[in-house]
Amino acid sequence: VRQQGGGKIVSLSASSHKVLDRRSLINRKLLTALDHNRLQVVYQPQYDIASDKISVYEALVRWEDDELGTVTPDELIPIAEANGLIANIGAYVMTEAAQLAVKLDRKKGSPHVSVNTSVREFSNNPMKDNILGILQETSCRPGQLELEITEKFAFQAEEEQSIIQQMKELQDAGVEFILDDFGTGYASFRYMQHLPISKVKIDKVYMNSLLSHPKTQQLVEGMIQFSKSMGLYTIAEGVEHKAQYDLLKTMGIDAVQGYYIGAPVPAEKLIK
Ligand code: C2E
Ligand code: CA
Ligand code: CA
Ligand code: CA
Repeated sequence: VRQQGGGKIVSLSASSHKVLDRRSLINRKLLTALDHNRLQVVYQPQYDIASDKISVYEALVRWEDDELGTVTPDELIPIAEANGLIANIGAYVMTEAAQLAVKLDRKKGSPHVSVNTSVREFSNNPMKDNILGILQETSCRPGQLELEITEKFAFQAEEEQSIIQQMKELQDAGVEFILDDFGTGYASFRYMQHLPISKVKIDKVYMNSLLSHPKTQQLVEGMIQFSKSMGLYTIAEGVEHKAQYDLLKTMGIDAVQGYYIGAPVPAEKLIK
């Protein structure tokens, strides 16, 4: 028997207890970790085929805690979305990424930085003002920032106008939007139709069987062709092998990301 949020939860299995304990520990420690800058951001390169350059670095959050060990984003982000701290994480990651962009601007021919954002963050926050504020504080050009949005959270019809409006204003300022995890959700087509997106990132689930399954191959080629016909720039993530890269290139992909190009690394390694 265990007290959770004031209520009594009875007869949970031992493993459920462990999950709950870990969740509530993450919940309790996250605010302090944020306050003490204990979260880290690592950056994964994206390679643009036409220019033969690393064109974008994607910011990915990391948390190493003495007691909790490694807290992965897939574990951390849903908890932060539930307790409201996602906005703090978002602001922290974006500030770090913008600072890196400014540093890279002088050295490496202005690659962009991209930051993962859930559309839900736009629904009841002054998201646009927060982002423009961070860009101003860090002196980062809006044209160097890309936002990767996922369709994990569908938005309500009444929020739609506000979300689209904020995104359009950011786009007018020079910020670009990437539709992340393309091909995994139900909302892709709706997002493509209504949101000001200029790039799509085909999800890594398709990379596993790309070389072995003719159907996967057809599907990926179809997604590339379709996106291009919509005027969108196409990226494949989770590319681990040369053979995958070669095939995607013949299919007309614009850019690739994955361990074949480079794993995520801390900012210090990029600036050196
Ligand atoms: P994502 O945006 O789809 O990011 C790609 C994930 O695949 C990353 O995992 C990355 O480390 C991993 N990856 C990169 N290359 C390869 C590869 O070649 N093979 C394989 N198997 N995996 C690869 P990570 O860092 O654990 O992030 C997981 C997810 O958490 C991200 O998926 C993203 O949706 C979310 N996330 C990460 N950082 C943030 C953040 O700061 N804010 C928000 N809102 N979400 C974040
Ligand atoms: Ca992403
Ligand atoms: Ca993905
Ligand atoms: Ca994702």
